Amino acid sequence: MLDYDYLIIGGGIAGTSAAETIRRADASARIAILEAEPDFLYSKVLLPDFVKGEVDLNKVMLRSIVNYEKNRIDFYPETVVSKIDFGRRDVFADERVFSYEKLLIASGGKVKVWKFEAGFPDKVFRLQTLVDATRLKEFLERRKPARALVVGGGFIAIEFMNIFKHFGIQTKLLSRDRFFWANFLDERGHSFLDNIFGDSKIEIVTSDEVREISEREDDLEVLTQGGAGIATDIVAAGIGLLRNFDFAGGVLNTGRGIFVDEFMLAEFKSGLGGNVWAAGDAAEYVDPYSGRRKVFGNWTHGFLTGHAAGLSMTGSKKPFRSVASYSVSFLGVPVAVIGTVDNQLAEEAFSDADNMGRKYGRFFLKGGKLIGALLLGAQKDTPRVIKMIESGEIIDRNIFKFT
Ligand SMILES: Cc1cc2nc3c(=O)[nH]c(=O)nc-3n(C[C@H](O)[C@H](O)[C@H](O)COP(=O)(O)OP(=O)(O)OC[C@H]3O[C@@H](n4cnc5c(N)ncnc54)[C@H](O)[C@@H]3O)c2cc1C
Repeated sequence: MLDYDYLIIGGGIAGTSAAETIRRADASARIAILEAEPDFLYSKVLLPDFVKGEVDLNKVMLRSIVNYEKNRIDFYPETVVSKIDFGRRDVFADERVFSYEKLLIASGGKVKVWKFEAGFPDKVFRLQTLVDATRLKEFLERRKPARALVVGGGFIAIEFMNIFKHFGIQTKLLSRDRFFWANFLDERGHSFLDNIFGDSKIEIVTSDEVREISEREDDLEVLTQGGAGIATDIVAAGIGLLRNFDFAGGVLNTGRGIFVDEFMLAEFKSGLGGNVWAAGDAAEYVDPYSGRRKVFGNWTHGFLTGHAAGLSMTGSKKPFRSVASYSVSFLGVPVAVIGTVDNQLAEEAFSDADNMGRKYGRFFLKGGKLIGALLLGAQKDTPRVIKMIESGEIIDRNIFKFT
């Protein structure tokens, strides 16, 4: 039996941020991180640049053995947690049992299983881990494919398109939504994106999905439900994430993530509890600005909630409150996603765009207050938007005019 005061499942940004926060608050605590992957903390944000060859592995790796030793954090790589006995405070991983006083679940997300993937292990790609990124990078360098089909409609689909554009690969996008980011945008945003796709010569097929993939000589033949046939060299699947908490065995209250309060303390279905926290992508908390229970999937949120969990686990009573934001390049156009951005979660939304087709913003409101915004080509307005969300004031729509 391996005994720890603080046991952390997941060595991503949330788990690492929590472990280092705990160490700063408690010099003598026994701390361990259990991590399914073989690697120390690395930057997921930099994975696309790593695939493109714009940054090397040294830059992607954010921690080395030296950091864990210096902080006296025991790091267990390739250690997959399969079960937790919350009553006995035991965590089971492979053949080992770890016992804890306090437990943090920071196990992030895993890619959704895609039934078409199994048949073509060399030609269907994912982009969630360093292992995935290395596999794609090596393939692109070795085989130099001419055509790629990206399947999906979210941020990973964008990262794939950015990568293929960089390599000059002719790219098609297949999305089952009516248009890309249908949940976030309106018709004006839709035509704004159409121009971006057009400029990058990316052909998009919407309201359709894969029915079958077969192989003919070196080509993949993708047949869609709508009857289209697409010939390609590779398929890149960006079809979304599921949160990792199967090992919690139905004991915790969960939705898309593990329900937590403002101190990152996990909710139990029964009376057990008080000593389990969750953070990062795996946690679902009530966003104080929108009043909605939400999972977020961004790096800063992972860092901040990990830090908040670490503080809470060591006795601080500072509630977590932050406007989550994310920025990414969409085929060369900077995009900022701030706060709660969803046509369904907001009560109302409005948009504005400049006449030149260079800037577009969509703003999401609840009770007349701003709860989120999506900015295309207008990322400089991010601090202003965050301030406006934090202020909780009824907004004057005219202050977000791009014309
Ligand atoms: C390619 C890519 C690009 C991105 N770009 C951006 C960006 O530009 N900006 C941005 O803000 N965000 C970006 N993100 C999202 C951001 O990286 C994530 O939101 C963030 O990493 C989440 O951190 P986390 O620690 O909560 O989870 P994760 O990073 O998923 O870490 C969780 C860890 O838990 C481990 N784990 C899971 N299950 C178990 C188990 N049973 N036992 C043991 N260990 C387990 C996993 O192996 C994993 O290492 C990107 C993500 C990807 C994949």
